[in-house]
Amino acid sequence: MPSASYVASGDSPLVAPPAVVAAVAASAGTDARTVLVDHIVPVRSGFAFPVAAGNVVRFTTVDGPQVVDLNVWGRDDPRERFWAARTRQFYGTHLTTGHRLWSNLPFLRPLATFVADSLAYGRDADDAGCHDLLGTRCDPYVNQLLSGMPYDFHCHSNLTRAVAGFGLTEFDVHDVINLFQITGLMPDDKRYFMKTCPAVPGDHVELLAETDLLMAISLCPGGDLAVPLWGDGSDGVPNCNPLHVEVFELDEHVLTGWAPSTRAAYAGVHGTRHGLVEPDGVPPTLADRQPLAANP
Ligand SMILES: [Zn+2]
Repeated sequence: MPSASYVASGDSPLVAPPAVVAAVAASAGTDARTVLVDHIVPVRSGFAFPVAAGNVVRFTTVDGPQVVDLNVWGRDDPRERFWAARTRQFYGTHLTTGHRLWSNLPFLRPLATFVADSLAYGRDADDAGCHDLLGTRCDPYVNQLLSGMPYDFHCHSNLTRAVAGFGLTEFDVHDVINLFQITGLMPDDKRYFMKTCPAVPGDHVELLAETDLLMAISLCPGGDLAVPLWGDGSDGVPNCNPLHVEVFELDEHVLTGWAPSTRAAYAGVHGTRHGLVEPDGVPPTLADRQPLAANP
């Protein structure tokens, strides 16, 4: 058997400090939290909101199951955004408490950390999991391609409308994490499948913002995904439900030992230690690594 290429355990920088995760989770429902945002997002719509470093975002299902597509950017520089593929390599195809959403290059830092997940779904009999990193957002381009019909309230469209007020466009919308979404890969050929969302009213996830962020969500028009988006059976009416979004400021003592995340230590020199030409002969092996000063 091969072994995992990335191990997020022990003192690895991929690990969120367990004491911080536990302290933030334990502050739920106490007066150590001050509500900054308290908003019900209607079905089949988007919502974008800034989140300061050290704040906690809580997504709660209200009336029933609902899949939620999440995008995350650095607040001060939206070129920094959630890197779904690398996050998937670090932790696996589905995320839960303790896992972190990492940003793209050249930033590469934790944007947010899961501190609570009421579903804690694990793996089911179909080897499916919850809070999906296998798929991406539904979009009108694929819908047009596969069904020949336009539709303007896909997650890509909802996210685009939500961030327009923050100066972003559809080119800034990126691969999502699908909260509350159950997915897996077919046992024979590893094609993607989706299952019905099991969330009940009150199910929630919480994310600690590790730096200043802009977040945007879309309440998928597929609702709980019991009805296929395309193909056989797609003529049914999806079961869609609203979502409760809350942002909390935490009392200082909750974040003891925590500090905002910092950009990658790598200085971005990309081989120029050897000059701007290829080194003579054979390029050095990986053993030729040298420490570099961290960015301020
Ligand atoms: Zn969707």
